[in-house]
Amino acid sequence: MLKAAVLGATGMVGQIFIHLLSGHPWFEVSVVAASEKSAGMKYSKAANWRMPSRIPEDVADLEVAEITASAVKDADLVFSALPAEVAGKVEEDFAKAGYVVVSNASAHRMEPDVPLMNTEVNCDHACLIEEQRKRRKWSGAIVTNPNCCTALLTLSLKPIYDDFGINKVIVSTMQALSGAGYPGVASLDIIDNILPFIPYEEEKIQEESLKILGSPLRQADFKVSASCHRVPSLDGHVEAVFAELARDANPEIVAASMERFVGEPQKLKLPSAPPKPVVVRREEDRPQVRLDRMEGKGMSIVVGRVREDSALGGVKYIVLGHNTIRGAAGCAILNAEYLKTKKYI
Ligand code: NAP
Repeated sequence: MLKAAVLGATGMVGQIFIHLLSGHPWFEVSVVAASEKSAGMKYSKAANWRMPSRIPEDVADLEVAEITASAVKDADLVFSALPAEVAGKVEEDFAKAGYVVVSNASAHRMEPDVPLMNTEVNCDHACLIEEQRKRRKWSGAIVTNPNCCTALLTLSLKPIYDDFGINKVIVSTMQALSGAGYPGVASLDIIDNILPFIPYEEEKIQEESLKILGSPLRQADFKVSASCHRVPSLDGHVEAVFAELARDANPEIVAASMERFVGEPQKLKLPSAPPKPVVVRREEDRPQVRLDRMEGKGMSIVVGRVREDSALGGVKYIVLGHNTIRGAAGCAILNAEYLKTKKYI
């Protein structure tokens, strides 16, 4: 069993980490860390627990530590669910102290020697760790997972990109409230409403997707245009995707390509790997947020309405995924399982 520290453990994504790691066969939570406001308190008191399950007993009584490498004594790896503005330096300090930091934060995602991994899509990017260690002269490492929408989008695009090539992607998102953390968007701003702007989200989707779908040293060579919107659902982001393909393919062939896709996590039978990373629904009214977001325990994406796109000359479809599981903590845990299997941790 490896001992895991969770930085930002009291927040929205931090709580999902605690929830998903409870009963994990390889990792157990040994340290919970958060801001000065929470440090020194029992986790059960510091966290405003928003999960439907109870706080795992072995975590409830842990004392919340400060987020410094010297305050974290009893850990073999570190999961980070810190805000980006805090994560930058803190994650570097942990990597310098010899920890492998598996991070949700955007601070280091686009640095060329930092793997930005969506496990099924590009776990081969883990090889960048060697370059990172050499260049930065540290024995730890920082490995990031994508922005929530990017995680869902790139998983849906991967089989298409491999089988048919992509010239252009346009994506329009409908993003759940939990993506904004807790307490997030004020109820008076979102009930009976849709917000047409989420800061930095469009840039993240446009940039991160190309890094993930490229090779470790070279970004993918096509353009992505994103428009992002906050909608009043709780969990589960929906994206309408329009893709111009490099080679002719009809929607049924594209759907079949997504349906048969599996990645290394499935081949390695990693504990958090869903049996089918991309589930394709043929009904014309699926996927739906409330009905489908927990597919594959929240680790699968659900694609529906794969059809011809008359404007771009390719395909269009809807993709849904759980933003705080597949799009955040679940993806980080799957990355950590892969890193352990490959002996990076
Ligand atoms: P959140 O609910 O606001 O939680 C933030 C956490 O960081 C809390 O534990 C908080 O501790 C801690 N923290 C805040 N400021 C700190 C400071 N100065 N020093 C030390 N700890 C500090 O945020 P979230 O939604 O969980 O997001 C966490 C990270 O994951 C962000 O980088 C976000 O962009 C990323 N992410 C989120 C999602 C999502 O769907 N929500 C998806 C993908 C990625 P206290 O409780 O003590 O304040």
